[in-house]
Amino acid sequence: MPTKFLYWWDSYKREFDATVVRIDGNRVWLDQTLFHPRSGGVANDTGRLVWQGEEYVVREVVKEGEDAVHILDREPRFRVGDTVHEIIDWDRRYRLMRLHTATHIIAALAYKKYNALVTGGEITPEYARDDYNLTLSGDALRKAFQDLIAEANEVVKRGIPVKIYFLKREEALKIPGIVKLAEREPPPGEEWRIVEIEGIDVQADGGPHVANTREIGEIVFLKSESRGKDKKRVYYTVKP
Ligand SMILES: [Zn+2]
Repeated sequence: MPTKFLYWWDSYKREFDATVVRIDGNRVWLDQTLFHPRSGGVANDTGRLVWQGEEYVVREVVKEGEDAVHILDREPRFRVGDTVHEIIDWDRRYRLMRLHTATHIIAALAYKKYNALVTGGEITPEYARDDYNLTLSGDALRKAFQDLIAEANEVVKRGIPVKIYFLKREEALKIPGIVKLAEREPPPGEEWRIVEIEGIDVQADGGPHVANTREIGEIVFLKSESRGKDKKRVYYTVKP
C-alpha cells in the first residue's frame, strides 16, 4: 500500500496518528502521513514523531515511488506496527501553503496575459521563484512581473474559495488548461486531485493549499532575472 497523504483531503490537520510500516535506520515509512514530502519544487514539511513520550525530529521528508520517507534525527526505538503521533511544524507548512497558492494565481494570470508557461520553480517557506517562457527581459520583465503580482493581490483580496476534488483522468483532461500546469506536480494514477481557484485557475496538483485566497495575505515582489530564453525568473514572498 502506498502512503496515504492526509493533506490531500485536509491541509489544515496539524497532528495525527499513524502506524509504522517500515524502518531502515533513521528512515521511517508510515501508513498515512500529514508530512508533505519535497516534490514538485515544493519544500518538505518538518515536525516530530512522538512515541511513548519520546520525540523524534522529522528533519526531511522525501518521496520514493508513491511513498513518503520520513528522515529522523536518530534511529527510532519504535518498531514496525507501532503507533506514532505525527506533529507538523505548522508555521512552516502554512507559509508553504500560502506561497504555493499564490503561485497558482500568478501562473494563471501570466498564462492569460502572455500565454506564458511555468518552466520550473521552487517554493520554500521564505520565498517562491518561478521560471516562465516569456520573451521580455530587463526593465520590461521586471515591470511585467510587478504588474502580475499587483493583479494577483487583487485576486487575493476577493477572497475566492480554493476547492479540492478528485476526477477521473479522462474527465480531468477535458478541462482546458489543466495540462499546461500538470507537469509541475503530476498526479499519480487514474484519479487526479484537482485544485480549483474559482474563475482563476484549475489544475491537477498533489500539494497542500489554503482554502481561501484571502489567507495568502499580501504577495510581495522581490526581484526578476533573465536566465535564458525559457527562464525568465521571478522571486516573491508573502508578508508574515
Ligand atoms: Zn499547487
